[in-house]
Amino acid sequence: MSPLRFPGSRRRGRFPFPQQRQPQQRQPQRRQAQPGQRRPAFGRGAGGGLKARLMIALAIAAFAFISYYMKPGDVNETTGETERVAMTEETEEIQLGLQAAPKMVGQHGGPTRSVADQDRVDRVGWQLLEALNRDLDEKNRQNLGSKLRNPYYKAFRFTLLADKQTVNAFALPGGQVFVTHALYDQLETEGQLAGVLGHEIGHVIMRHGNKRMAKQGMYQGLAGAMGVLSDGGQGGQMGQMIASALSMKYGRDHELESDDWGVKLCGLAGYDPNAMKGVMKILEKSSGGKGPPEFMSTHPKPANRVEFIERAIEKYYPNGVPDGLRP
Ligand SMILES: [Zn+2]
Repeated sequence: MSPLRFPGSRRRGRFPFPQQRQPQQRQPQRRQAQPGQRRPAFGRGAGGGLKARLMIALAIAAFAFISYYMKPGDVNETTGETERVAMTEETEEIQLGLQAAPKMVGQHGGPTRSVADQDRVDRVGWQLLEALNRDLDEKNRQNLGSKLRNPYYKAFRFTLLADKQTVNAFALPGGQVFVTHALYDQLETEGQLAGVLGHEIGHVIMRHGNKRMAKQGMYQGLAGAMGVLSDGGQGGQMGQMIASALSMKYGRDHELESDDWGVKLCGLAGYDPNAMKGVMKILEKSSGGKGPPEFMSTHPKPANRVEFIERAIEKYYPNGVPDGLRP
């Protein structure tokens, strides 16, 4: 959900949705947490206990895999692709986003007081959504029987936040999109604003928060299985580390996918998609060029994202970006 890269941001940890609870996985974790019940992991005395733990661990791991991979999946109405999500109903996502929004707004000093700036954010955001609708209509015309649409269209809200300290933009599932004043003030062109909003729209359409919820259940299950196997020893920690590294990798994939959407929506709405590169420069500058190494960070480095954006532009414009697009 969180945005355009911020290594310093704690946003990810505050992901406002209830985590999936799966009692079958929780139980063993609770057991190992109790002091006095610890037994040597693989050493003496582990004998029969190890066998039992192995069976339980396998059962938990199998359950985690099956409950994730055997789900039928849900068709994304905008792309037509089948995805694994926690919530298949758009109304549920929209509801969650609406519930979490006031807290997000509160954490960033409330909405801006500048009506003119808020209007500009709205105008650009809705231009992108209208452009997407036209593109989907066109695709439906070309492919008989295809009924692509943006199911969140009416639920989208673009909010400029008063926060002048935190350079950030983010989206909640269902269509709540936010940009802080600190980021907004640094944007040099309307195309850059379109790039930021397009990226966030991408998170919503691709249901990134929803997918992450689905995967988190599986990761927790696997980490739990390793915890049982080592009876709370290092295996459990290792499981957690692997789980969190995997979910960070997942977060980076989502960022790149949203960058692709930023490029695409900019172009569809008549903005020069190269503006996305300008956004990356701004982000890099505001993070002071530092930030954690890419592998352990949720967000890819802006420099690497620029390369990715260049490839995306070549993909959408194999003959080069046409003249006359707004900067
Ligand atoms: Zn993002």
